[in-house]
Amino acid sequence: MLGAILSDDYSILEAENGQVALDILESNKENIALILLDVIMPVMDGYTFLDIIKKDSVLSLIPVIVTTQSDSEVSEIAALEHGATDFVSKPYRPQIIRHRAASLIRLRETAAMVNQFKFDRLTGLYSKEFFYRTVKDCLEKEPEKEFTLLCCNIENFRLYNDTFGRKAGDKLLKEAAQIFLKRVSKNSVCCRYTADRFLCLTDKESELKGRESFSQARKTTRSELADNLPVKIGIYEITDRTVPVELMCDRAVGVVDTIKGIYDQYVAVYDDEIRDILLREQAITDAMETALSEKQFIVYFQPKNCLNDDSMAGAEALVRWIHPEWGFMSPGEFIPLFEKNGFIRRLDEYVWESVCEKLREWKDKGYTLVPVSVNVSRADIYQSGLVEKFCKLIEKYEIDPSYLHLEITESAYTEDPEQIISTVEELRNKGFVIEMDDFGSGYSSLNMLGEMSLDILKLDMKFIRNQMAKPAERGLLKAIIEMAHTLDLKVVAEGVETAEQKERLKSMNCDYAQGYFYAKPTPSADYEKLLQR
Ligand code: C2E
Ligand code: CA
Ligand code: CA
Repeated sequence: MLGAILSDDYSILEAENGQVALDILESNKENIALILLDVIMPVMDGYTFLDIIKKDSVLSLIPVIVTTQSDSEVSEIAALEHGATDFVSKPYRPQIIRHRAASLIRLRETAAMVNQFKFDRLTGLYSKEFFYRTVKDCLEKEPEKEFTLLCCNIENFRLYNDTFGRKAGDKLLKEAAQIFLKRVSKNSVCCRYTADRFLCLTDKESELKGRESFSQARKTTRSELADNLPVKIGIYEITDRTVPVELMCDRAVGVVDTIKGIYDQYVAVYDDEIRDILLREQAITDAMETALSEKQFIVYFQPKNCLNDDSMAGAEALVRWIHPEWGFMSPGEFIPLFEKNGFIRRLDEYVWESVCEKLREWKDKGYTLVPVSVNVSRADIYQSGLVEKFCKLIEKYEIDPSYLHLEITESAYTEDPEQIISTVEELRNKGFVIEMDDFGSGYSSLNMLGEMSLDILKLDMKFIRNQMAKPAERGLLKAIIEMAHTLDLKVVAEGVETAEQKERLKSMNCDYAQGYFYAKPTPSADYEKLLQR
């Protein structure tokens, strides 16, 4: 009778007793929407059946309606106590049964959806997990169709978040999600992948049509919240379907990260070249923790000399990675990646500590100490507790802070001047010496120099070379050195390779020079010999 009432809307599986029902459930676990159960059955009674399925994590989620004799309050209560979701009494009233069945099924589906965190709560896009599943389904359903994954990343979102606060950041993300949705084709699926990255599965054809509009994004994207919202897009065309979906997504994200911070490039497509870069980056990422714990990172020292008498005035600590298989690696190969993935903070701390350890050792050996400059990345500055970290180090190794110079790259200043200025001021008040690294390579304005708390200006080597190559503009270098002196700053020239360069800088009253002309960066043992002398 129940089958007849429900068979128009559902497909019905019948079981003549509890054991048969359990067998059916076992092979159809995922597909059963509702169980209708009579308490009085041969082989196994309804209560025992209920007790068994409630113990199973999947079966227990299926709603159960128990049929009872009319007016039997006892059996109704017993059914509910054994975990039934609802009951219907005899004689059956078809309308009521249909409604109860429908609403229980709906309820359960809603609950299941919530359980799976189908949506990202902030943006309303799909969640990452749901997206993975949907992509798998789409690819399975249409094996012939060509699909593309898009990853969209808001450039400098972190900075925006830090500057304007979390609430404003959330608003921006919501808006960005909407802009993203509008830009991709109607039948694509989008999710929020990480904080400020969105992913989208779209068919290749509409992606190709839309690609142009993405490259124009910067010109056309009008955000109410930010003047311009630089959005970068990574494109991964799905050709090999044996690649796991998670890895496809990682690749789309990897592509977009390769153009992070590159001015005027908004779209990148995954190809062999990018694949090799990503593989290399992955290998480095996989190896970095071990490298740190096994002390594969080695600090080299490059002397810095006084230009007027050639005496050694200090040194810069420069890290190298001696990998057991890959051999010697220059920082250019791994520092930019560590700056992206955040590992630079751990590596830098390690370098700072190694330097302090050495300073202590050399002092104990009775050498005349000269200061050592360490590099401080912008990621180091944006973390809290930087000042305390440096203070702890000099306390631990009992060294004077004036022996530790901190090199902060010029471009870090242009990013968030206020934050840097206040941190730097604190550090200076504690007695550390601050050098602005790579001056002339970025875009900081000259008049900013006056506002900043600084001790030393370190001229970028390319800048120096450019200036020296153009006789007509030679005056600029001289003017900058003079201006630095007016501001009470000392000036270091970087990358000095020839006697001619050295002489010219000297004639311009530059204070110090560092470069191959004097010495290359060397292991600490070699540097120690120089100190000894
Ligand atoms: P940088 O701070 O501008 O360091 C100067 C770079 O110029 C060094 O490259 C040095 O070896 C090189 N150099 C010095 N004299 C000459 C010269 O006469 N001619 C030429 N052509 N080059 C010269 P290196 O050691 O490869 O470091 C590259 C960059 O990696 C550094 O640039 C710095 O930004 C970063 N870096 C190195 N060690 C660390 C570290 O421990 N922490 C952080 N955060 N960054 C580091
Ligand atoms: Ca440096
Ligand atoms: Ca430099």
